Amino acid sequence: MLNIVIFGAPGSGKGTQSERIVAKYGINHISTGDVLRAEIKAGTELGKTAKGYIDQGQLLPDELIIDILASTLDGFKESKGVIFDGFPRTIAQAEALKKMLAERGQEVSIMLDLDVPEEELMTRLIKRGQESGRADDNEETIKKRLVVYHSQTSPLIDWYKNDGKYQHINGLGTMEGIFAEIAEAIDKI
Ligand code: AMP
Repeated sequence: MLNIVIFGAPGSGKGTQSERIVAKYGINHISTGDVLRAEIKAGTELGKTAKGYIDQGQLLPDELIIDILASTLDGFKESKGVIFDGFPRTIAQAEALKKMLAERGQEVSIMLDLDVPEEELMTRLIKRGQESGRADDNEETIKKRLVVYHSQTSPLIDWYKNDGKYQHINGLGTMEGIFAEIAEAIDKI
């Protein structure tokens, strides 16, 4: 089982690189952000709750997102592995993921940290907002999301280093070049 955590600030390229990983390694993909956007589109109660947090650039409560993750994971019965994209985002979520995988006799194989400088993140996200119309890709919300990333999510870098799973990836360059570094790291597992 190949369980990959793809990590990085908003705009670091997690979604783009996840697609390539899925295509090459044939594993399942869980993007908690995509799950929430689908719920918003479908107009569900969960979607309404999620929208309040997403529009403010804030994280959903851990218990809620952990439940969503667990039920998505349960749907992957014959899986070769999973790429976790946008989860975990807090230490509590990382601990929950570790426990959930352990209960299934599994563990995280590697955590890939897509490292991109702050000015570049801002430029990419503003461009994405203009092209995709994603509601939280506006300058004010992007700034809040980056603050949340630094305060609540970036401590996971040390957490995964302590867990022996951390792999730095240079997130600047061509998509192909970045993917080559990722594939090299995965193939070494
Ligand atoms: P993303 O598409 O991963 O950038 O996620 C968009 C938004 O969804 C985030 O800014 C959060 O509001 C929410 N979200 C996604 N994943 C999580 C998570 N693991 N924990 C809490 N909130 C999340």
